[in-house]
Amino acid sequence: MSDPLVRIEGLTKRFGAVAAVDDVDLDVVGGELFALLGGSGCGKTTLLRLLAGFETPDAGRILIDGKDMTGVPPHLRPVNMMFQSYALFPHMNVAENVGYGLRREGVAKPEIATRVADALAQVQLTDFAQRRPTQLSGGQRQRVALARALVKRPRLLLLDEPLAALDRKLREGTRFELVRLQEELGLTFIMVTHDQEEAMSMATRLAVMKAGRIVQTGAPREVYERPASRFVADFIGLANILEVPEGRWMALRPEKVALFAARPDTAHACAGRITDIAYEGSRSLCRVALDDGRTMLAAMTDDAFRRGQNVWLGWAADAGHPLEA
Ligand code: ATP
Repeated sequence: MSDPLVRIEGLTKRFGAVAAVDDVDLDVVGGELFALLGGSGCGKTTLLRLLAGFETPDAGRILIDGKDMTGVPPHLRPVNMMFQSYALFPHMNVAENVGYGLRREGVAKPEIATRVADALAQVQLTDFAQRRPTQLSGGQRQRVALARALVKRPRLLLLDEPLAALDRKLREGTRFELVRLQEELGLTFIMVTHDQEEAMSMATRLAVMKAGRIVQTGAPREVYERPASRFVADFIGLANILEVPEGRWMALRPEKVALFAARPDTAHACAGRITDIAYEGSRSLCRVALDDGRTMLAAMTDDAFRRGQNVWLGWAADAGHPLEA
């Protein structure tokens, strides 16, 4: 890996007895779209706020471009943050909202005009420059917030749940938009999300957090296919967690488990009854109550079986992934 743009070393932030961020080490390379993923309260937002300089760490440090950020106030960091709520000013039009930070920094008027026009073009909002935020759709407001963050040309853009305020359909389209912009402009994004699908589909790498700690870092495919622990296997996608000899555990993704009408000659097979079927478009997810009392999930790509039917489940010898913890 080349020199990291961001290096986080032993970073800790406590609120009373809670270690919101607990001894975190992390490197992010320039040009990455890095996602911090985890459940509610795991410390994602606190980590982002520490990077932005809105919180002061109790221990550890953050280096950006090799420079120690300790004691550097937010506006002097090469970082900008896009908030979940977008925090647009209702009394300013789109262009004024986008130019606000530059005006405050005392940038000359003609330069503000050029940079605002560039930023609006980047997010395809040139024709909306004179509108007020209330005259825009949720997706357009999201793009105004993005333009406002981009106009300062930060080395690093921090995005806190950037798509949370959008409805599902728009959220999917906007994912591609954000990735396109990030790649085209050669920017580095660190994005916080609790949505594993969002993180998986957008990120070049991601970190899964739990109780203030990073429990696994890797490319989405790596983390999905080789989860390190039961927690990660369960958090990223769906998994059957099976106990294997010597008190060890294994993750088996539903798509690795096939359904059969009779005992298959796969390496592993067990009999059961389908208790639920959830249709998901490209596949259906079947919950199967096994004869030995366990429950397993299997993916069905046709509609060969019905709820209540007795079936066999079969999977290959190498279908599962051993878990370390
Ligand atoms: P969510 O997805 O729900 O926003 P998160 O992963 O972003 O969660 P944080 O907001 O970073 O989590 O919070 C981590 C922990 O720190 C939580 O237990 C939270 O209650 C606590 N916390 C965060 N900010 C403060 C604060 N200003 N004062 C006290 N406790 C705080």
